[in-house]
Order: sequence, then structure tokens, then C-alpha cells
Amino acid sequence: MALIGPGILCVFGLCFLWAWVIEKKRHYLLLLAAAPCLFALGVLSQVFGWPPGTGPNAVFSSLLYTSAVLLAAEGILRRSGRRLGLLLDLAILAAITGGLWYFAFVAPNLLARVYLQNFGYGIILLIAALHLTSLMNRRLIDRILFWTLFVFALHFFPRTILTIGLEAPTTAPAFAASLFWHTLHLSLAVLGTALAAALLAAALSDVIDDLRHERDIDGLTGVLNRRAFEARAEAILAQAWRSPCALIACDLDRFKQINDRHGHAAGDHVLTTFGELLRRTARTADVVARLGGEEFVVLLPGASDNGAHLVAERLRDSLAAAPFPFLPGSERVTASFGVAQHRPGETFEALLARADSALYQAKAGGRNRTVNADVDSTAPPQTQSPA
Ligand code: GH3
Ligand code: MG
Ligand code: MG
Repeated sequence: MALIGPGILCVFGLCFLWAWVIEKKRHYLLLLAAAPCLFALGVLSQVFGWPPGTGPNAVFSSLLYTSAVLLAAEGILRRSGRRLGLLLDLAILAAITGGLWYFAFVAPNLLARVYLQNFGYGIILLIAALHLTSLMNRRLIDRILFWTLFVFALHFFPRTILTIGLEAPTTAPAFAASLFWHTLHLSLAVLGTALAAALLAAALSDVIDDLRHERDIDGLTGVLNRRAFEARAEAILAQAWRSPCALIACDLDRFKQINDRHGHAAGDHVLTTFGELLRRTARTADVVARLGGEEFVVLLPGASDNGAHLVAERLRDSLAAAPFPFLPGSERVTASFGVAQHRPGETFEALLARADSALYQAKAGGRNRTVNADVDSTAPPQTQSPA
């Protein structure tokens, strides 16, 4: 029976190890693999009484338990780019092990050892949970992980007080049969399993997020690619009867010349800068994408024809004023813009075709300008000359 707990812990350790073998760049998985295995070794050292003798066994098993808790805390934090740090880890390990040694050899006191370990582990995990509070509104899995860790950390305090109180059993067999010992193992099994499951789910969702990112994001500019944009745009247009929606199509002017004169790398740099400019200017609800080459689009939910025109003009001005230090002299880069207001029932392809045709008119009209597609097909297109 006593081996079931360590067995389950080792299975979780192997799961994290396996996850690390698949995703070697996620080093935190190694910490999470080591933590349950070390904890299992701590349980085994207590169950089998190795090393023999109350004092040595208490200090040795505590060393394993404390290391396991610190590794788990570090693993959880490093997943989110945070850490306790090696110095703090070593200081905590030395403080708890030193305290255990004191209450085992200098002033033997089982109650003090129990409180030192349980409250110590509760505090380490609470510190880790507090480090994660800033990620609370990120994703559901981050919230689940925070609360699982928080409850796990917090439970060390009432459990210890309620099950051992102010009096520890005096003999080893009485301790092994105590309410404290049984509750400890039960709560660690239930809450530990919940935490390990939440961590495995978090690791899996990290991998899925990365794959989605690779699938949806244009590697050069960091904006959406055509496939992802079409999917987003179709979903937004399906709701567009509620409020207006406009599409801006834009294309860098004479971009081929930039490539030809300054090289492909300089051209790439211009694309990256323009992508950043679009992302910076876009509101949260706007959807920015690179459709291919040097053509970009911005879908503006809630924007009127005039509103979208103003946005396009702001983008045009910002690009025309943007410095490109890697281009010789004070060479400036411009773009042309076509704006189309979504018509009720219009498909995404039709809307894009109208924005493209307005863009084509902007090119034909001399470039570095914005043209609105006619809202009413009988009305003449509005045009705006460059400033
Ligand atoms: P216009 O003002 O009429 O739009 O002229 P343009 O030169 O910008 O347009 P054109 O379609 O003739 O040339 C687009 C160029 O963009 C040609 C292609 O080599 C270049 N291009 C496409 N994708 C990339 C890319 O990822 N990186 C770089 N550096 N160049 C690219
Ligand atoms: Mg172009
Ligand atoms: Mg083009």
C-alpha cells in the first residue's frame, strides 16, 4: 500500500520526462520530471527507514522533500519565464534542512519538525503562486494552474494544524498510524495529482499554442498570414450585420526597386517595419495580416467608411515619415491604400476584391494615397491626394 503513492509520483515524473523528450527546448519539464521522483524517494526513505535512526532519516528525507518542492516551484515558474533563483533555492534548502537537523539532533522535537516542513513547503508554493498572479487573465489553463497551485500551497497550513495540533505522537508506530500521517498522504495524493494534471495540461496547451502560432502567424512580419486572416475575417463578417465593418488593403510602393537597389535583406527589413507599424496602430479588435509579398490588409470591425479612411491616412503618414536607417540617404518608403466598407451580405472575397480594386486605383492615381471603394456602386470613388 505504502508504495502506491511513490508509484503514482514516478508515473507523473515519467510523463514530464517524456514531454521533455518530445519538446527539449522546454527545460522546465525536466525540473517537473525530477520533482515527483525526488518526492517519491523521500517517501520511500521514510517507509523503509533508510537511513536508519530517527534523526538521520528525518534530515535525509526532508532534504529530498524540500528539493522536490523547490524543483516543482522552479519548474512551474520557469514555464512562465519567472524563477525563484538558485540563491533563494539554496537558502531555503539550507534553512529547512538546518532546522530539521536542529530539531532532530540538538533539541529533538517531532512537532517542530512537522510544522517546519509543512509550513515551509506551504510558504514556498505560496510564493510561487504569488509570482503567477500577473498571468491570471492570460489563458484559462494559466488560471486553472494558479488556483490548483494556490489551493495546494494553502492546504499545508490548516491540514497540519487540524490533524496534529499541538501534540505529536510519541512513538514511530503511533506516528505512522496517526490522523496527521494518513491525511498527509491522502491530501498529497489528491491535490498533488490535480497539480500534476494541471501542469501536464498546461505543457500540452503550450505546445498547441506554439503550433497554432506557427500555422497562423507570418514569420517575417509577426502579423497573421492569409489563411488565418480569411478564417478570422469570415467569422467577423458573419456578425457584421450588427455594426459596420471596413477593410483596408495596402501595398508598398515600388518595393521591387528597394529589393533591386538595396538587396532582399533590406526589403525584408522594410516589410518587418511596416508589419510592426500596422500592429502598433491597430486597435485590439482590428485584424492585421500579410496576404503575401508586400500586400497587407487591416479589417476594422465597427469602423465606418470615413473612419477606415482616416485610419488608412494615419498609416500612410506614419509610413511616409518612418525612418529606415538601413536604407542609404534619407530614403523614405510609401504605400498605397484601398478602403472598402462591408455591404450587408457581402462575402469576404467580394469585399477584398473591392478593397483591392480601390488599391489599384490608388496605384494608378500616382501611389502614396488612399482611395475608398464606392459604397454605392453608382457613386464615383473618393480619392485623396498625397499630403
Ligand atoms: P507597385 O508600387 O506597383 O506595388 O510596385 P512594386 O515594385 O511594389 O510591386 P511588384 O509587384 O512589381 O513587386 C513586388 C516585389 O516584392 C517583387 C518581389 O520580389 C518582392 N517580394 C515579395 N515577397 C517578398 C519578401 O518576402 N521579401 C522581399 N524582400 N521581397 C519580396
Ligand atoms: Mg508594391
Ligand atoms: Mg504587390
